Amino acid sequence: VTPHECHFESEALAAALQSRWPARVDPALRAHIEACPVCADVVAIAGAVDDAREEMRVGAVVPDAGRIWWGAQLRARRDAVRTAGRPITAIQVIAFACASGFLGACFGATSRWFQAVLDRAMAAIAGLDTSALVAEHGALLIVIAALALLVPAAVFLAVGRD
Ligand SMILES: [Zn+2]
Repeated sequence: VTPHECHFESEALAAALQSRWPARVDPALRAHIEACPVCADVVAIAGAVDDAREEMRVGAVVPDAGRIWWGAQLRARRDAVRTAGRPITAIQVIAFACASGFLGACFGATSRWFQAVLDRAMAAIAGLDTSALVAEHGALLIVIAALALLVPAAVFLAVGRD
């Protein structure tokens, strides 16, 4: 009859888990483990589990390296944010390009009207009839003036928030 339990089983397990097997085990216990099939199994299994644990520990170095990489990324990002405060950034260049493009489009859309106003202004100045000109185009002049003020203000706000 093969025994399934042994009085020294826990001792054998402890020796294996504490990596004392086989070199640093009490000679009497070692003699028993070598002779006892139950304890030999326990030591073999515990040793295998311990090896797997060692492998997992080695595998756990990868997440550590990942953390280091992530930390480096965060540092780089912080540095980038810090340096973004100093010189003109790409965002500022794009914002100004958009703003000037918008202003250009506005001017392009109104240039014909502007030309007409200019012609009329010349005629009005010639005829000293400026009050009629302002009355006719005052609202539009206010819109143009507002755009000329609002667009740079919007750009300033967008860039200043960075
Ligand atoms: Zn035993």
